[in-house]
Amino acid sequence: MEIKPIAPSFAASPQIRPDDVARAVQAGYKTIVCNRPDGEADDQPAAAEIAEAARAAGVEFRYLPIKPGQFTDELVKSFEDVLSTCKGPILAYCRTGTRSSTLWALTRAKMLSPEAILAATSKAGYDLSGLRPMMEERFGADVYTSRPESYDVLIVGGGAGGVSAAASLLKRRPHAKVAIIEPREEHYYQPGWTLVGAGVFERGQTVRRMGEVLPDGVKWIRGAVAGFLPEKNEVTLENGERYGYEVLIVTPGLKLNWEAVDGLADTLGKNGVTSNYRYDLAPYTWELVKSVRKGKALFTQPPMPIKCAGAPQKAMYLSADYWLRTGVLKDIDVEFCNAGGVLFGVPDYVPALMEYVERYDATLSFNHNLVKVDGENKVATFEVTDGETTSTVEKEFEMMHVCPPQTGLDFIKASPLADEAGWVDVDQATLQHKKYPNIFGLGDGCSTPNAKTAAAVRKQAPVAAVNALAVLDGHELVAEYDGYGSCPLTVERGKIVLAEFGYGGKLMPSFPDWIIDGMRPSRRAWFLKERMLPPMYWQGMFRGREYLAQPRMTFKKIGAE
Ligand code: FAD
Repeated sequence: MEIKPIAPSFAASPQIRPDDVARAVQAGYKTIVCNRPDGEADDQPAAAEIAEAARAAGVEFRYLPIKPGQFTDELVKSFEDVLSTCKGPILAYCRTGTRSSTLWALTRAKMLSPEAILAATSKAGYDLSGLRPMMEERFGADVYTSRPESYDVLIVGGGAGGVSAAASLLKRRPHAKVAIIEPREEHYYQPGWTLVGAGVFERGQTVRRMGEVLPDGVKWIRGAVAGFLPEKNEVTLENGERYGYEVLIVTPGLKLNWEAVDGLADTLGKNGVTSNYRYDLAPYTWELVKSVRKGKALFTQPPMPIKCAGAPQKAMYLSADYWLRTGVLKDIDVEFCNAGGVLFGVPDYVPALMEYVERYDATLSFNHNLVKVDGENKVATFEVTDGETTSTVEKEFEMMHVCPPQTGLDFIKASPLADEAGWVDVDQATLQHKKYPNIFGLGDGCSTPNAKTAAAVRKQAPVAAVNALAVLDGHELVAEYDGYGSCPLTVERGKIVLAEFGYGGKLMPSFPDWIIDGMRPSRRAWFLKERMLPPMYWQGMFRGREYLAQPRMTFKKIGAE
């Protein structure tokens, strides 16, 4: 099965088999749609077989067959109904996925420009350029005549950035009309996943119902944004709904690009391949750490930027610490394969980290970029760059912790909000969009060159809130973000090297050295991470209590550059 994501809540696929359904469910899909009429080919499983597998796996199934080339308005309407009524994300399949992606494109054609649709489908490998005239005809046909429901501040994404920004806004203006657009039912405390992978937290400690974390007074719009119309101050959702705004805050996070490593998606969660970058996989890291007794343990880091740049090596230190304590480390060959050329981007923290690399006798392999995984044979392939030359190296492993390559989300990349690299293009101090003065961005998905962390979000959210209100009021007072980010490097169970720094690697410790010396491993920093940061997140950031995050105020003219 080859799932080809096209939009945040929709993917197409060539023909699937009944045993693929469990994998689709594992990948998060909640509805499966068959667009292929039964009996097209001898080796084709009947829709009823897939339906039975879907029923057994607890997901919805819809049969909406279409013969190649026969896209009637009635069928497009039925598909639109499926998209708006069935639980997402939705996986639709036919022989190759082309009919499914075409149906999706035609349902979106009323609200998204042909460019945005064609960019999304071609990224997934479907060239639908032949549909352009049909899409142009539909685009804007009848949808743009009425004004949609509108908000003072509309927020895209109910993750760390969206919820904190809403809380900071409402603390300052309790009666502001604020809405968050978010498709997920759950909110994840991702910084806790490193500790889940080390057996310190249960994964249940890192998840809450979305409805419980949203601050009082925020309207939750359940859905995924598909496109932006900044000239009209509107966004469109995947289900076709539109919403208007005075000020827009865009904070949808980033894309974990598992598919960029050949064979990785198929072997995650089995064959000794794991990742703390997913809620469902972090417990598997801990299972592996407890069961591995000898052989090679690989820990990989992709090219930057990634969220929490320390997380790949945190997984290594905590695993090696367990093996050291249980007396098996001597039989385990620990190796850190980093696509980059240094252990950590801010040199001041490297000496303390190197002490642990030596303690665990770990090999550091720089300029090693993971490109392929053969899970069954437990072999990982790396592209190794050495000056001008590039070669490939294969490494066998007993277990491998993978940090996936990361990019901007597809719907951002295809929008007018993106910079060339696909991030929401904002000013690094004010967080205001460089082209649209009433749009702000924060969090992992924006272009600011800080460490992509929840710690950065803690400081960014009040800045975005203050500036959003200033724009709303037509005032010139603005706040500035200094680039602060933090990475608590869990070098052993019970000790952390607390890296805190701003733009350009400038050290920005929150505490004096005698409380926490960030350059040394510290028990107090561990206590902070394990006991204090989770409540600071849930009850501090998400309730507008801006601990250690008061925005720096300055006076500046609001306006696009
Ligand atoms: P997210 O929290 O990822 O939220 C984005 C939200 O946008 C999601 O809810 C998503 O569903 C929603 N969304 C996506 N697409 C759409 C759409 N089309 N329409 C509407 N909504 C959409 N940070 C630290 O400070 N310290 C740490 O120790 C730390 N450790 C980490 C360890 C791991 C393993 C990981 C994975 C992360 C870690 N982080 C850490 C990073 C931290 O979790 C992120 O930086 C933070 O969550 C970023 O917040 P965000 O709001 O930008 O993105």
